[in-house]
Amino acid sequence: MSSIADNIGSVTRRIQKATLQAGREPGSVHLLAVSKTRPPEDLREAFASGQRAFGENYLQEALEKIEALADLDGIQWHFIGPIQSNKTRQIASAFAWVHSVDRLKIARRLDEQRDPALAPLNICLQVNINEEASKSGCRIAELPELVAAIGELPNLTLRGLMAIPDPDQPEGDLRASFRKLANTLKQLKTDHPDAGPLDTLSMGMSGDLEMAIAEGATWVRVGTALFGKRPAKS
Ligand SMILES: *Cc1c(COP(=O)(O)O)cnc(C)c1O
Repeated sequence: MSSIADNIGSVTRRIQKATLQAGREPGSVHLLAVSKTRPPEDLREAFASGQRAFGENYLQEALEKIEALADLDGIQWHFIGPIQSNKTRQIASAFAWVHSVDRLKIARRLDEQRDPALAPLNICLQVNINEEASKSGCRIAELPELVAAIGELPNLTLRGLMAIPDPDQPEGDLRASFRKLANTLKQLKTDHPDAGPLDTLSMGMSGDLEMAIAEGATWVRVGTALFGKRPAKS
């Protein structure tokens, strides 16, 4: 079995190669290590190999790890899971990024609860790109209103869009989903130049990061390829 350090090396090389092949600037794609279900020691090992950004889906589990790893200077926490409105206060104080904002109520609460003494919270809007009934995320049609409203909130910085396309669709459709998210971001940037940097596309995971990078991903969220297969959820 390969070590976490080896895996970070090979995923980093995959990212570099895909970035080069896409004709994109070296360093323009960031690796988010998705560490849900993993014990703090695994994150410590990744940190020791240079990894700084970690993505967590479940708040309680995340808070325990954040506390256990408080000695790691420069570690950066990203929240990427579904958000219940009674959990926003803890999310607003413990994380640097939230990739999974999908409604205005949540954005407003995060803004109100973010300590203004901290840097603004970086936000991505999660889009239900394939309009799957079971998935979280807003519809593309809702984005203009959301972007306009969130752009006004002082303690949030609107960075861009996130999606988790249906991984079981044919490769061509998956690529089209990534492209659709990229084109949607471009349009929003044109229509709402003052809403925020809108410089971020959070898309691509262990199995499809090359395709996502070819279509413009700036953060790839990678779990399995770094930490191995997750235990089945009970
Ligand atoms: C679990 C998860 C990932 C990582 O998926 P892998 O296939 O293990 O790389 C990425 N994004 C989100 C939102 C996730 O929940």
